[in-house]
Amino acid sequence: MSDLSKKPAPQSFSASELLRELFPDQATGEDEGSAPTLGLYPVADGRLALVHGRQLAEFTPLSGQAKNALHCDLCHHTRSPSEATIYRVVVAQRRSRYVTLCHSTAYCQGRAGAAGLQALAERIFPVESGAEMF
Ligand SMILES: [Zn+2]
Repeated sequence: MSDLSKKPAPQSFSASELLRELFPDQATGEDEGSAPTLGLYPVADGRLALVHGRQLAEFTPLSGQAKNALHCDLCHHTRSPSEATIYRVVVAQRRSRYVTLCHSTAYCQGRAGAAGLQALAERIFPVESGAEMF
């Protein structure tokens, strides 16, 4: 698939730079007619980026593995600890949310569908500016 993970990880990455990398075709994206972008995309170091229009939230996997079954917050399936990861999302200066997601995000998003992604986005956004961990 992509070779994003093989590149040396940039030390600082602004949301707009990341958006440009994920969506080169929409770099200028002033098109009001286009459908809002909504999706979860793998980025470097096992992280995920939740993108909703021009908003972006970074999901950072917690180290270590859970001992008990996990409930995926996106597709709402129960996963074994080896099938899902808990991610930390910084939503404001001193506030984080924790979200559990399946490892195979493509299948997970397929099960959740657009409505599931929308519900997840509503839990995360808006992210307070300055809260990004880039
Ligand atoms: Zn899932």
